[in-house]
Amino acid sequence: MDSKDALTKPQIICEGIYQLKLPIPSSEFMYLLSYFVEGESEYLLVDSGWNSTVGFDALEKQLSKIKVDLSDISLILVTHLHPDHYGLAHEIRKKSKSKIVMGIKADEFIKRFKSFKDYFGKLIDWLKINGYPIKELGDWLKESPAVMKSFEPQKPDIFMKDNEILDLGNFSFKVVETPGHSPDHICLYEPRSKLLFSGDHVLPTITPNVSLPVKDFGNPLKDYLESLEKIRNLGVEKVLPAHEYAFNDLNKRVSDIERHHEVRLGEVLSVLKNPKTAYQIAQEVTWSTGPWKRLQKWEQRAAVFETLAHLEYLKYEGKLFSVIRNENVLFYK
Ligand SMILES: [Zn+2]
Repeated sequence: MDSKDALTKPQIICEGIYQLKLPIPSSEFMYLLSYFVEGESEYLLVDSGWNSTVGFDALEKQLSKIKVDLSDISLILVTHLHPDHYGLAHEIRKKSKSKIVMGIKADEFIKRFKSFKDYFGKLIDWLKINGYPIKELGDWLKESPAVMKSFEPQKPDIFMKDNEILDLGNFSFKVVETPGHSPDHICLYEPRSKLLFSGDHVLPTITPNVSLPVKDFGNPLKDYLESLEKIRNLGVEKVLPAHEYAFNDLNKRVSDIERHHEVRLGEVLSVLKNPKTAYQIAQEVTWSTGPWKRLQKWEQRAAVFETLAHLEYLKYEGKLFSVIRNENVLFYK
């Protein structure tokens, strides 16, 4: 097998489950890991990849290597409403008459933000009130509306609740609601094979982004930490994430991620010697991708949203409070 073949040939996880690598154009993750599951009478795809021609071609090509046609897929499960996970779901549904399955909370999310254009407007308002300078948003405002068009999520056919079973005969997947990285995030646990499709909830080395991207978005970090605890004692032997690679020691990874957030919470509190906006705080916090000044614009926006999730958590714990002054939210210890 040459190296090109290694990238295009599905990896066998166990009998009936294959891992596919779907490229994400211009992304730091490079590809999304999608999983093809051969049920007794149904074929399931877990996460669909970014809406792009290269992604679609890669999917078709890789499936053909295991003698599966796209039109054979009957279920597409989307772990959460992020474009690298649901992007191609609609295209696949059109070509296969398959059904799109999501967690029940995706319904609220889709209804709350009528369109991604509307959602994007709310993101901008939220950044501004949290001290993000409007001139820094310039590029994003220009580039994003066009990009947003291809992000528009399509309505799923089936919504599943926590603990509900997706039964394929040979595999019986239990839905585990894991809000945090996204409010609608779900994982799938298969008790016989002890596999967990973890989406973006846990990845082997990257700490999934937990952010507060708009006003009134609950307490995502609290949700996330509770969702981590929830999967800790499932008895998982192999984690099948949507990025990086499959790994085994779930409980160690859960502990490492918890520690990471503890450290960041401590840091956020320690830089808050005088009242500051989330934008100011984000500049003083340590980011694994590098110091603030070297972060790209999109990374800086993500850092502010992530800081806000930590601030909201600390606010809920009673460790700080916020006041609106001169049209900015200021945080006090
Ligand atoms: Zn995601």
